Amino acid sequence: MTAGGAALDGRSRSYMDRLLETQNQPDPISRRHHYVPRTYLKRWGFGKLKRRIWNLDTITGEVRALSVNDVCVGENFYRVVGPDAQAHNRVESMFSVADMELARVQALFENLQDPDELEFDDLIGLGVTVAVQRMRTAQQRRLRLQHDAWLVAQNPKQFESMSDPMDPYRVAGIHTELLFNSMWQSADVMTTRSIEVWDDPEGRFWTCDTPVLVPFLNNKRPALMAAPYILWPVSPYRVVALTNAPSGEKAVIRQAAPKDRGLLKKSIEQGRERWIFAPPEQRDRLPKTKLFNRRTQMRLRCSQYTPQHKYLEPPGCCVEQAEGFSVGPDVVLCDRGLHSEAPAMCEYT
Ligand SMILES: [Zn+2]
Repeated sequence: MTAGGAALDGRSRSYMDRLLETQNQPDPISRRHHYVPRTYLKRWGFGKLKRRIWNLDTITGEVRALSVNDVCVGENFYRVVGPDAQAHNRVESMFSVADMELARVQALFENLQDPDELEFDDLIGLGVTVAVQRMRTAQQRRLRLQHDAWLVAQNPKQFESMSDPMDPYRVAGIHTELLFNSMWQSADVMTTRSIEVWDDPEGRFWTCDTPVLVPFLNNKRPALMAAPYILWPVSPYRVVALTNAPSGEKAVIRQAAPKDRGLLKKSIEQGRERWIFAPPEQRDRLPKTKLFNRRTQMRLRCSQYTPQHKYLEPPGCCVEQAEGFSVGPDVVLCDRGLHSEAPAMCEYT
């Protein structure tokens, strides 16, 4: 719909212009960069200004209330080196533009009563918000590093790794460059889907540190185009569900069935990187005795087919890359001598 960002007008054009303008702004001072906006998380918050949020740390098993300042944050997470060889934080300014659009779209779907009021720009806004939020997390960065370790092992002489101990900001630079280069294309994938808005009058929806969720099917995450659901909780009362079943409507609002709530809960428990967030009334329901030994990992399989479904004669093969739900990188490849083992992938488990 945006032709990969080339055919933008209206609000989307101005969004892109605001993103580009941040290049000329002064460097933000903060070194603590949030990969899930604090304003987003406050919908689940409580207390004065809704700044505190109940969460389960799936690594330690602790349930605590923390400030939204202290979750989903990384020191220098978006600090990169510019063309002038100087490190700077201006990517953080670009994300603050993305955060403002996220806040607008979040409020829009949280309060939406009549889907006919949605404008074309709102659909683009939703697509780009979901696409950017999915890609900008610590989980996606870790998966990139796993992938990088795989590529280095396959071609140690030529492939230039994104990870360089002499250049601590290189990983952030490559991650964010890929993200901004692909954001409109990814947004187009989102905008071709049908929008469902799930409503729960009792406010029982949770969220997590990977707030855009693509549910696993048999421990494998389907490709975005094929995924039956892409889920984005916008508040304890509302989830935006992008489906691949055509509805013929701009959006459909419906009350969430128990199976919808179950799908979201399972997607959060499996898809989270570390933290799960619940509204205060739900804090005792957080699964603190559950063993969280699996999470999202790279999944590699040999295939006789290319992504375009072309058959490859043996001994040739094509390595299918996907995301899986497992304890560590899930690599099962043929033994024809075409692939090298990549134990370094496990450093990013
Ligand atoms: Zn193979």
